Amino acid sequence: MDRALLRKAAMQSVALMITVVLLSYSLNNYHTIVKAASFLIGSEAVSTDAAIPDKYRTKAGNDGGTALLSSEGNSPDAYADIPITDVSSLRLRIDESILDQLGEKFLVIKKPRGEKLEISLTDLYVNHSIQLDIADASHPDMTSSMVYRVSGNELYQGDPAYSEVISSIENGDTGETEEVVTKDFGNDLSHGITVTSQQDENSKRYTLQFLIELNTVYAYSVLEDLNYYYISLKKPSEVYDKILVIDPGHGGKDVGAIAKNDKAYEKDINLGIVLELKKLLDQENIKVYYTRTQNDTVFLRPRSSLANAVDCDFFVSIHCNSNALSYPNGTEVLFSNSKVKEVSNKVLANLFSEELSRTIPLKKKGSIEKNPEDIFIMGQSKVPMILIEVGYLSNSGDLNYLIEKDNQKAVAQGIFNGIMRAYEKFPKK
Ligand SMILES: [Zn+2]
Repeated sequence: MDRALLRKAAMQSVALMITVVLLSYSLNNYHTIVKAASFLIGSEAVSTDAAIPDKYRTKAGNDGGTALLSSEGNSPDAYADIPITDVSSLRLRIDESILDQLGEKFLVIKKPRGEKLEISLTDLYVNHSIQLDIADASHPDMTSSMVYRVSGNELYQGDPAYSEVISSIENGDTGETEEVVTKDFGNDLSHGITVTSQQDENSKRYTLQFLIELNTVYAYSVLEDLNYYYISLKKPSEVYDKILVIDPGHGGKDVGAIAKNDKAYEKDINLGIVLELKKLLDQENIKVYYTRTQNDTVFLRPRSSLANAVDCDFFVSIHCNSNALSYPNGTEVLFSNSKVKEVSNKVLANLFSEELSRTIPLKKKGSIEKNPEDIFIMGQSKVPMILIEVGYLSNSGDLNYLIEKDNQKAVAQGIFNGIMRAYEKFPKK
């Protein structure tokens, strides 16, 4: 193989490792995920390591721990003390093999001092943020001024600057005019940077944490040279063939519908179904963004905003129903009668209704058209979207069925089959 090809393969394997970490935005799952990723590095990097020029060598994390990218540490080079002032001079100092993979939008972060820095990146996509942890630094003094953002020919550094925009909007309910203040960050890709550090009691070394809020959700990969980390920011649709957003309704403080005996909350059943669905989707070559994978409070706007930001193929929201009366029961798939990206929400709803009726015994009430203004996330969504009301927690038959784990598995299987049929019916071009 020629050197250029090998180098590319090496870089891609780094990108793959990072992707493994991105699978989770949950901090609680963080340590397990990082460990899984370092195992991958150990096995992947060995074969490609030789192709990377010494200057850009990424050391394989064979020694275990939480290594993601662990570098040989930084030493001065010709550019080290020359400040970055504009995009063209910045591009000149970046090696071509790195530049090729960065594209038009990327972050540049100055490395702290340290002999064998270890970094990991966590995608907090619900908040349009990323968290970069750099471990084993020899000092705690890093600030937002170490973070550069490149957007085409524009360069931003340090805390994002904004101007306040006051606009008057008419309140639809009262007809009164209200003043709303929003922040305008211009073309800056970041809307907030927080840098914190924590010292390890034994090694006395520091882990520096950069929490970087971005203007939208990106697909990330991390590259490095002697003095900087580079994080490419690409549209998820440029990187992934198939993209889903799965939304377990409610969560945290918002319990959703409550069973009459007070023993079951809708939020838990929705999550139980989605965690089973996740096991099935993990086997597929589909990038899936979950609005939550634990008992988190997530407001409505970030849910539809996530679906729009990643421009997903299908946005599937999963709920359970409730009624003041105890007799209504059965599965309903709600849709708004519109066509987005050549996908008819009605056809989509019919598919899911059919597939669910094959795997679960609850009454099939079919697909039901809704006014998008009546359901917030439906009204806000600019992607194909359905909302499944799996059953009624106010009905004892449905409730007794839905609280059983095995039955939640059957619901997940029905939704999974619906997703597969949806991709068959509306294939990606
Ligand atoms: Zn609900």
